[in-house]
Formats: sequence, structure tokens, C-alpha cells
Amino acid sequence: RYSNVCARCPEQRPVETQFALNCMGEFDLITRYFKRPSQRAVLGVGDDCALLAPTPGMHMAVSSDMLVEGRHFLSTVDPARLGHKALAVNLSDLAACGAEPTAFTLALSLPRIDEVWLEGFSEGLLQLANEHHCELVGGDTTQGPLNICITAFGEVPPGDALLRQNAQVGDDIYVSGTVGDARLALEVFRGLQTLDAKSFESVRTRMEMPTPRIALGLALRAIANAAIDVSDGLLGDLGHILQRSQVGAQIDTTWLQQSNTFGEDAQAAGISPTLAQLPWNKRLEFALAGGDDYELCFTAPVHQREMVHAAAWESNTPVTRIGRITEAQGLVVMDPEGQPITRRFASFDHFA
Ligand code: ADP
Ligand code: MG
Repeated sequence: RYSNVCARCPEQRPVETQFALNCMGEFDLITRYFKRPSQRAVLGVGDDCALLAPTPGMHMAVSSDMLVEGRHFLSTVDPARLGHKALAVNLSDLAACGAEPTAFTLALSLPRIDEVWLEGFSEGLLQLANEHHCELVGGDTTQGPLNICITAFGEVPPGDALLRQNAQVGDDIYVSGTVGDARLALEVFRGLQTLDAKSFESVRTRMEMPTPRIALGLALRAIANAAIDVSDGLLGDLGHILQRSQVGAQIDTTWLQQSNTFGEDAQAAGISPTLAQLPWNKRLEFALAGGDDYELCFTAPVHQREMVHAAAWESNTPVTRIGRITEAQGLVVMDPEGQPITRRFASFDHFA
């Protein structure tokens, strides 16, 4: 900690805080932007610890994700969208586990106190939190490079959690929503692809404001055998299920030929109309290995097909069947003519 004077106050008030840029200190900041009345928590922001009252008999699901500027988001992103995404990626992990969100903590490293940024960030963050009745109960705030780390807590009945290790030979494989849009948006940001303004806006929104599939995860509890959320690319993340379950998979690509519809609500599923405009090879690459989709990839027994459709319907989430689990290890991708595709798809790896 160091002392300084506030650059904004006429009286040049001394500032005793790790943020020396103005007289809004760390505690004012927390109170203004992150402290809200407690709902379910026994004790929220403001003391040494938060106190949560878990539902008796439930298992607690816990997951952390860190977002680093330049690595996980562009420095120019709208702060409200960033607040949304920071929580969304954590809720997506709870969804993939079939857990219902209850609370989260926020560890924030900020280069400076920027009230416009904090206003937007906290608004986007708390809006999504409210939608899921998941309350911010504590955290830490420090000065440093922009870095956002959230730990989310959820609940799931014992035995109901969707795990990576339970895929069974013969299971159908499904993916929710649409995949590949976030990757397409990133390519446009990088100048490697061009899109008309409306299409760009739609894929950019998918990249910046992913939808955590909480309702689908809950609806799949007693139906799916295994699940994972797609953060690094569909094939790569499916690979984690295969490895943990000691099985293989055959993926079909007919669902990439056009933007499909599912059920009677006719929502686009599998790939978006925007992705469907791309040449086949790009479509394949972005949908199968794109990353940042935050959709659920899951497996379920063939006899549960009706129940999967019902879960999709009930949760208002499109779902596409994309392949099946095989006894033969390895991941085979078939082209629409039924021939194996031999090219490799690189998944996103932070240390690659
Ligand atoms: P301590 O010194 O005990 O670590 P802090 O001074 O870091 O406590 O934080 C004070 C209170 O504010 C604590 O209840 C903490 O959980 C909460 N808090 C700190 N930063 C944040 C944040 N970014 N979001 C929500 N709560 C926060
Ligand atoms: Mg602290």
C-alpha cells in the first residue's frame, strides 16, 4: 500500500489505498459495484468470509475460471459484455455438471479505478447472476493487469452429476445450440474473414455473450450419461469424455451441411445461418475445433432419444445429434458421403 493524493478532488484528498489514482478506495469500490443485499447466503460481501447454507443432502459443485486480458478477451470489449462472459463461462461448467448455481466469488485485478468500466462490468455481471439466482458473496480486489477470476458454487443431488467418465458404448452424442460462431467472430476481428455488418454482429454477440446452458444441464440430469461444456473446441472437448470413459466416437458431419431446425420451435441448431454461408472446410474447422462456444456436448443412451428431445424442448435449448460412442478407441469424423475425414483439427491449447 502507498499514500497519494486524489487526482480528481479539488481538495487533493490523501488516498490511502492500493489504488492511488483517485479517492475512491478499494472498499468504496466493493460496496458500490459488488455489494448487494443477501438473498440465499447467510452472509454476503463485507466480512472475512461469506456464509452459505447448503441444501441438506445435496452435493456442492465448485468451479473456477480465470479470464486474462489479451488471452481470453480483447481489451476493447464492452465491459458489460465482459462481466456477462466472466460469469457465463463459470456457469457453463456448472451446467455441464448438471448443477444448479447458487453463489460465486469474484477475484479482480484492475490496472486502475475506472468508474465507467466498473459500472458496465458489474452491471453485465450482476444481471446474469440475477437471471440465475446466483449471488455474488465475496471476492478480492487488487491492483494489477486486468484479470478476472470467478469461483462458482452450485448444487446437485448425489449421483445425479453429469461426469466426463460415464459415456457408454452405443450412446448418441449431442451438442446444444450452435458451434463455431465465436471462432468466426475472432477471425473477423483478426482480419482473416469478412462478414456483412448484421452477420458480424450476431457472431460477435455469441463470442462476447455466451449463453450458459443451465436449464439444459438440469433437464439432462437423469438422462445423459456424460457431459462437458465446449470451451476449447467440440472435438477436443469431446476427446476429454472419450479419454475419461475409455471409449471412442464416430462423428457425422451431415448436420454441418445447412443450418438445421429442431423440434417445432424451428430454432437454428448445430450451426448458425452465418456459419452456413462459409465454404465447407471453414465450416468444418470452426464448428468442430473453434472454441469459446460454451455449448454442452453430451452422450445419452439411444433409448433416451425421446427424453433428450423433451429436455431440449423443456429447457428451450436446441440440441443436435452428431454421432455415437464406439468401442473402438479414437475419434473418427465422417464426411457427408460417409468417408472418414483424414485432416487433423487442432483444438485450442493455452500452452501450445
Ligand atoms: P480480507 O482483507 O479479509 O481479504 P477484503 O478487504 O479483501 O477482505 O474484502 C472485504 C470484503 O469485500 C470481503 O467480504 C470480500 O469477500 C469482499 N470483496 C472484495 N473484493 C470483492 C469483489 N471484487 N467482489 C465481491 N466482493 C469482494
Ligand atoms: Mg482480500
